Amino acid sequence: MTAGNGTGLGRLGLGSVPLILMYHAVDTADHDPHMLSVRPDRFAAQMGWLRRRGLRGVAVGTLVAAMHASRARGLVGITFDDGYASVLANAVPELLRREFTATVFVIAGRVGQVNDWDRGTPWPLLSRSQIGELAAAGIEIGSHSATHQPLAGADPELLEAEVRGSRDSLSRLADAEIRGFAYPYGSMDAAARRAVRAAGYEYGCAVRTPWAQLGLMALPRVYMGQRDDPARMAAKRLLYRADIAVRGGRS
Ligand SMILES: [Zn+2]
Repeated sequence: MTAGNGTGLGRLGLGSVPLILMYHAVDTADHDPHMLSVRPDRFAAQMGWLRRRGLRGVAVGTLVAAMHASRARGLVGITFDDGYASVLANAVPELLRREFTATVFVIAGRVGQVNDWDRGTPWPLLSRSQIGELAAAGIEIGSHSATHQPLAGADPELLEAEVRGSRDSLSRLADAEIRGFAYPYGSMDAAARRAVRAAGYEYGCAVRTPWAQLGLMALPRVYMGQRDDPARMAAKRLLYRADIAVRGGRS
């Protein structure tokens, strides 16, 4: 594990970047123009693939704690962005039967509503009581901002509301400390990463983090979709670090 200048894991070496999978919905959606949904049978097969390789799916908060203790080997972060109700119905049972956990990143200002920021058929988002069910099942609740706006270039007031404001309201709603933040659209810059750290989050999940920005506030994630059969999962597991290296310092 690369530790730099008193910042602990603030900066990550390429070799210490963990594998974190990024999901959205797990459902039998017919209309899915952004390819955000994985069908339940496919999701079960993907979790089974991890299990057969001796890998364990965990919440990112658990993964980060294990990284601090140099015990992250064999752990794979499982994340769900946006907080779709289908995750509770279709993904959580598959996780629990394998003794896996995960992190669900919820949009604080959209609880119990629908994904109205995307075009297409609206999908229901988790209600307050469903978020409580998730937490009771051992699923980590993280923040996916207050209103799902891109944060790169955002002014300080917007950052404050989206980053700190969402942490405060989700902490109350879930009656738990909110340790993780996922940047909407993976959109972030140095100011956004500073805002996440300043608001008290322990980690931030991005999507395609450039090499130069690797760190606990910008953990890269690997997109998972319906097309990801075992062969593609094996390739992704093999290549996710190389993909970061190829992109170098570009943002
Ligand atoms: Zn999102």
